[in-house]
Amino acid sequence: METTRFAPSPTGYLHRGHAFAAFTAAQAAAGGRFLVRIEDLDISRARAAYERALLEDLTWLGLEWESPVLRQSTRGDAYRSAVAALAAQDLLYPCFCTRREIAEEMARAVEAPHRAGQPRYPGTCRRLSRQEVRQRQAAGQPFALRLDAAAAARRLPALSFEECGRGPAGEQGQIAVQPEFFGDVVLARKDLPAAYHLAVVIDDAFQGITLVTRGHDLFEATYVQRVLQALLQLPVPRYAHHRLILEQGRKLSKREPSSTLRSLRAQGVTPAQLRRELSLA
Ligand code: GLU
Repeated sequence: METTRFAPSPTGYLHRGHAFAAFTAAQAAAGGRFLVRIEDLDISRARAAYERALLEDLTWLGLEWESPVLRQSTRGDAYRSAVAALAAQDLLYPCFCTRREIAEEMARAVEAPHRAGQPRYPGTCRRLSRQEVRQRQAAGQPFALRLDAAAAARRLPALSFEECGRGPAGEQGQIAVQPEFFGDVVLARKDLPAAYHLAVVIDDAFQGITLVTRGHDLFEATYVQRVLQALLQLPVPRYAHHRLILEQGRKLSKREPSSTLRSLRAQGVTPAQLRRELSLA
């Protein structure tokens, strides 16, 4: 019996790809528990109206989930204790860099080429002296907290996770984690008690998720999430990554109204047709 979840961010309307993800998670939970989690940490973009619309669209799809739904915006205390636990292990450092400074530094850095789309950070603030950190903090300079990925990797044994679906290159079974794949990720900011990777592992554990089903685009995210689970001694779910639903070869966007469930509904498409179209019937 699985406990699975669909974890959308309410920053736009749901589209075909979300419908596929939600159907897949609900199907994997058949006979077990299917949860919906609202990932509304990014308060500058999350909207109550989108949350209402997405729950209504899920109902229209014929899905049923347990209530109440968990909202990440209510989970600040849990995230702050996790941040404190990582800080106590001396694995976090404050980063004062702006986006622009990071981009400039990256353009200068002579580093091995990395895969497109992978956010990387050159580690500038990892090298700050304690005195400099104190001075900047005393001056009120805003900072984010980053994970020292290399230090974390040294601390941990080799990690893996179980892939029950398929990764983007057909990966299956035990997948070896590359702990430094994303470099020193941001785990918290002044306006954000936890960034995505941290919030996800805390909440998957809190909700007793046994099987995480989600798209290929998050396959590598599992590396850093697995590292955080190990550092925080959290139970490790199994993973089933699924293909992405693309439109003209491109990822669907919440900003392009053509593919949203709202517009499909308005055009008279039925949930059964949608299932067939997504080859889920
Ligand atoms: N909230 C994430 C998204 O909207 C999904 C998180 C996950 O499934 O781990 O893409």
